Amino acid sequence: MTLKRDLVKYVRDKAKSKYKKGTECYICGATEKLDFHHFNGLTELLEFWLRKKKIQVTEEEGILRLRKQFIAEHTTELYDEAVTLCHEHHLRLHSIYGKRPKLITAKKQQRWVEIQ
Ligand SMILES: [Zn+2]
Ligand SMILES: [Zn+2]
Repeated sequence: MTLKRDLVKYVRDKAKSKYKKGTECYICGATEKLDFHHFNGLTELLEFWLRKKKIQVTEEEGILRLRKQFIAEHTTELYDEAVTLCHEHHLRLHSIYGKRPKLITAKKQQRWVEIQ
């Protein structure tokens, strides 16, 4: 079957059940409208990984087969290098680092969260 959605969505579907989403915003402690932010964007990580491995995915079966391997190789980025933020703080972070922050800004984002 051909791809109907962005590749990253197939990965997110599989990975998100194990996200360690907190019960409050790491910055302000709000407990409502919480988001889970990855310091390493999933889309960027996946594109980088596919490029590195010179893999081109054109079929749904392809990504369904590969996502397990991708997740296994990125457990730190997917589950540990992430933070729970309220929607407001999540938006503010992305207004500074962009809608799709570059992978090299991961450490800077982490520092930004710490100093708020
Ligand atoms: Zn907040
Ligand atoms: Zn985010």
